[in-house]
Amino acid sequence: MKKVIVVGNGMVGYKFCEKFIAKASKEEFKLIVFGEEPRPAYDRVHLSEYFQNQDAKALELAPANWYSDNDIELISNERVTDIHRKSKTITTSSDESYEYDYLVLATGSLPFVPPIEGVEKEGVFVYRTIEDLEGMMAYADMLKAKKPDAKAAVLGGGLLGLEAAKAVMDMGLEPHVVEFAQKLMPRQLDLRSSKVLQVKLESLGINIHLNKATNQILGDRAIEAMEFGEDDKLDVDMLVISAGIRPRDELGKTCGLDMGVRGGITVNNKMQTSDPEIFAIGEVALYNHMIYGLVAPGYEMADVAVEQILGNEEALMSSDIDMSTKLKLIGVDVASFGEPFMPAEKGHSILFENKTKYLYKRINVSHDGKTLLGGILVGDAADYNILHQMYLNGIPLPENAEDLILGTRADGGSVFGSVMDLPDAAQICSCESVSKGDICSTITSGECNNVSEVMSCTKAGTGCGGCKPMVSDLVNETLKSLGKEVKETICDHFNYTRQELFGIIKVKKLTTFYEVLDACGEGDGCETCKPLVASIFASLYNDTANKEDVIQDSNDKFLANIQRNGTYSVVPRIPGGEITPQKLIVIGQVGEKYNLYTKITGGQRIDLFGAQLNDLPAIWKELIDAGFESGHAYGKSLRTVKSCVGSTWCRYGMDESVSFAIDLENRYKGLRSPHKLKGGVSGCIRECAEARGKDFGVIAVEGGWNLYVCGNGGATPKHALLLAEQIDNETCIKYLDRFLMYYIRTAAPLMRTAAWLDKLEGGIEQLKSIVIDDSLNLAEELEKDMQGLVDAYECEWTQVIEREELQSRFKHFINSDEKDDNIVFVPMRDQIMPEPWTSN
Ligand SMILES: Cc1cc2nc3c(=O)[nH]c(=O)nc-3n(C[C@H](O)[C@H](O)[C@H](O)COP(=O)(O)OP(=O)(O)OC[C@H]3O[C@@H](n4cnc5c(N)ncnc54)[C@H](O)[C@@H]3O)c2cc1C
Ligand code: SF4
Ligand code: SF4
Repeated sequence: MKKVIVVGNGMVGYKFCEKFIAKASKEEFKLIVFGEEPRPAYDRVHLSEYFQNQDAKALELAPANWYSDNDIELISNERVTDIHRKSKTITTSSDESYEYDYLVLATGSLPFVPPIEGVEKEGVFVYRTIEDLEGMMAYADMLKAKKPDAKAAVLGGGLLGLEAAKAVMDMGLEPHVVEFAQKLMPRQLDLRSSKVLQVKLESLGINIHLNKATNQILGDRAIEAMEFGEDDKLDVDMLVISAGIRPRDELGKTCGLDMGVRGGITVNNKMQTSDPEIFAIGEVALYNHMIYGLVAPGYEMADVAVEQILGNEEALMSSDIDMSTKLKLIGVDVASFGEPFMPAEKGHSILFENKTKYLYKRINVSHDGKTLLGGILVGDAADYNILHQMYLNGIPLPENAEDLILGTRADGGSVFGSVMDLPDAAQICSCESVSKGDICSTITSGECNNVSEVMSCTKAGTGCGGCKPMVSDLVNETLKSLGKEVKETICDHFNYTRQELFGIIKVKKLTTFYEVLDACGEGDGCETCKPLVASIFASLYNDTANKEDVIQDSNDKFLANIQRNGTYSVVPRIPGGEITPQKLIVIGQVGEKYNLYTKITGGQRIDLFGAQLNDLPAIWKELIDAGFESGHAYGKSLRTVKSCVGSTWCRYGMDESVSFAIDLENRYKGLRSPHKLKGGVSGCIRECAEARGKDFGVIAVEGGWNLYVCGNGGATPKHALLLAEQIDNETCIKYLDRFLMYYIRTAAPLMRTAAWLDKLEGGIEQLKSIVIDDSLNLAEELEKDMQGLVDAYECEWTQVIEREELQSRFKHFINSDEKDDNIVFVPMRDQIMPEPWTSN
């Protein structure tokens, strides 16, 4: 029996084992694996998740018994110290000796620690292993107990450095990134995109210091500051070094294998080192003069080494290694693929930049405009997967290549077409080499029925995870084409529908995002699930957006709608559209003082536009002092209840529409829901308040009110349908409580009431039976829940004004109260307007 020894039980060493046992005969080969770390291989790519759950098991690539179950001898906590090529043996740290027929070096790399004076001080960490993270967490806890405003810097503004910066921020330390180069992510981004990313990161609270060479780390025993030059230093209490990697090639060096000039064990396209019985794979291997710090090339190397050892000489490593990457930093979309910085002789670039929205998109296309050569996406990487596929598979570009980053402008159709248009051979998961055909065939053959089954069966999406959205689209499209039901789950982090998650949070009484993740999710969460969970909290407990502002979308986070020039709108609530002259005067004074554009809106209130982020608390203080409240114009929540003047003034009026509209608006103000909610009350069937164009509309008739539900204006107008006739105010409120609460519980994210009713089996008749006849025996609970929300209401702008600690997020720049000077207005009809689009 031949012995194969694998040195290193990291991601690539593990992948070698997995592929080897799948292809080799147990009778012919014996596999022995040495790992220096105390635990079996784990998922280093998702290491940062350890900060949230501190669950090492959740990161394991396979449980410890997987090795013995597959006849693999795993020897953990044991370092291989020497290779004796002549005798074909290795020795280990406990002085044991083992023979091999084939040796596979998968020793990975170590973080590069630059030789800076003072780097050995306490409080300086690297970011590579679970033990590193445990050390960082313990140190951060100790710091925070002594110094609540402790600062942590990350040395290195690359992919990993930014991930580390987010991690220290989540640990409650003030984060700083110190980068030697003039831009962030120097390998992936050009100067302009780096600038856009920098501004976005700064808006999230991460301080960026570029062009800084660290000369010295200051402090007695522990780090106290980083010194860059004379009179140029940054006070910090902790430092995480993320300045690149160095291959762990010491075993190769001492046994005389060929090495690269700057390290790494040289391999050919069979993954053989200069000794044909010794292979090197992963981050220790120098292939094509490069060390590839990504899992996908490592996995391909593992596959090639397995095939070569099993005698398949045809299996060779490709010469073109795809280095496309997507940053896993929550709150910022960053991706680059192919050749992000293409030389001008190869083709030309198409750029789109909108600084105020932190957006930058660049694609590089061949001179004939037919082929995509690479690109950079910052701020919106939603199209990364499909662009990446177009690049990998050489898919011809549309006639107007700029549509790929601008979207189609004429017919509204998607420029990308469907994922199903990709060829079957298109490689969807580069880490695991899984094609579109492999994924779809598991569904058509009936082997798998959902995304998780496909992932565990094909392994697609289990590496860096970047392709998961596309795997999910392919699975759903294939299921639909077979006429099977597709469960609309929230995202990769929650395998539930919104309604299911709502139920779980309610039953388990979960109150923070991480409690929800722990209870029923996985990973860190994303831009989809975080605001959704925030909305569920609001719908269950009437939590305002101030409670966990980091999980809100940006409008909710700043309690204002961002406008197209990066300023914000201020919209005070004016219930029923009724306002006193005194309050009108205050709005006028505030508008004048802060130079805001004022406009009366379709919802019968007055919007003030053009406010700088820094000014929002001061503006709101003046409004709140005058008796105004937040109008929630930014939230997926109740906007307005519009009314006509009704019987108070109108000679046709049959009831007091203004009073009832005010009552309803005050009752449901602040109510968060799957989408925005609008209401209307008209004093007679002439319908001057357009109540039937709203989510709920009330119209006075002979003998009471008629209640209509599930209408809307907007792009697809829909008239509301009659739910109940000739009811009094009390009954109307009771039915509305039930209807709204049932919608909030059961609708999909971003689904308005009209679309929800369309999907409700039995339609309006079913809704009547639930709301009026209580066919689901839920009425009491729905009313109680709604009353709880009404009683718990607090104006979130008042909270901000009353609690100083909530005001720190309303800043353009982290360390200063200055305004954003880039915002320019021009005059228009005696007011201001944003400078028209030019470079954008
Ligand atoms: C925080 C973080 C985030 C990352 N994110 C991404 C990402 O998003 N996408 C991506 O593609 N890549 C990412 N990477 C990189 C990716 O994790 C690596 O490319 C991958 O882990 C390399 O695998 P490897 O097996 O070559 O090395 P490693 O995973 O480092 O494994 C090597 C193992 O060998 C052991 N070893 C070394 N010498 C010996 C010896 N003499 N005897 C016994 N054992 C030994 C080491 O202790 C280690 O356990 C990330 C890395 C980190 C740290
Ligand atoms: S809806 Fe009827 S009551 Fe109201 S303003 Fe119009 S006509 Fe008058
Ligand atoms: S109709 Fe269009 S342009 Fe006008 S406010 Fe609404 S979204 Fe903006």
